[in-house]
Amino acid sequence: EFVIVNGEFIERSEVKIDMEDRGYQFGDGVYEVIRVYNGKMFTANEHLNRLIESGKKIKMDISYTVEEMKEMLNKLIQKNNLDLGTIYMQITRGTAPRNHVFPGDHVLPTFVANTKEAARPIENMKSGVKTILNEDIRWLLCDIKSLNLLGNLMAKQKAVEAGCFEAIQHRNGTVTEGSLSNVLIVKDGKVITHPADNLVLNGITRQKVLEICRNNGMSYEETTFTLDDLNAADEVFISGTTTEVTPVIEIEGNKVGDGTPGPITKKLQELFEKEIEKECGN
Ligand code: PLP
Repeated sequence: EFVIVNGEFIERSEVKIDMEDRGYQFGDGVYEVIRVYNGKMFTANEHLNRLIESGKKIKMDISYTVEEMKEMLNKLIQKNNLDLGTIYMQITRGTAPRNHVFPGDHVLPTFVANTKEAARPIENMKSGVKTILNEDIRWLLCDIKSLNLLGNLMAKQKAVEAGCFEAIQHRNGTVTEGSLSNVLIVKDGKVITHPADNLVLNGITRQKVLEICRNNGMSYEETTFTLDDLNAADEVFISGTTTEVTPVIEIEGNKVGDGTPGPITKKLQELFEKEIEKECGN
């Protein structure tokens, strides 16, 4: 299995990352996960642009261009013979003696990437998933895809311990997002999701779903909604790179609608599938 470390392709067992890498000690870095279908990356430009933007927001310059990163990642896919799976990549602020202060430009970022085989979440997409509600206790820069994921991990862990797939988070009664997904509701035929501000990650899948709505005459709105709106929704679904479009059929033990995936969610799943085929073939 090959991985990328700072532009070099090496065997995973050969990787040496210093224990004072700032990603390891501080979570001082940003990351992306890109889906691979048929050996091709899906929405790679969007993910890599967001990586560069996340870097800017923490004052970290990513020296690679989108094209350079795409070339490297495609080569990694080939070397590892990846057909269906994910690419994980992260960039940290590099290795320097532990100090809260940024180390300065002489310290180069550490870029790593690896691939993983992963099936599509067919069963969840078909049957839907159960969720819990959880207070969103994370920081106020959730638009940055930062390595600091403890808040997300604790939310996800709580969900799994309750026998659920995802935790729907809320701040003072306003629904924000999941632990690893965006949350969208359908009310009277309209798709509604939290605006892409500092309180949520502007998911690439979320953006794709809204683009699909736009191009297919389906009504949608990016606006905040409350827990009451969530509980009164006709349909609820989550979106994410690994979760794709997954129906939510239960929240805190209460059924969403009749407890089965709704028609608009199913239509969006179909149209999303077409987008995958368009970009990656079938
Ligand atoms: N929100 C959070 C907190 C996430 O970790 C993710 C990542 O998967 C998403 C939303 C969905 O983003 P994307 O569709 O870009 O994968």
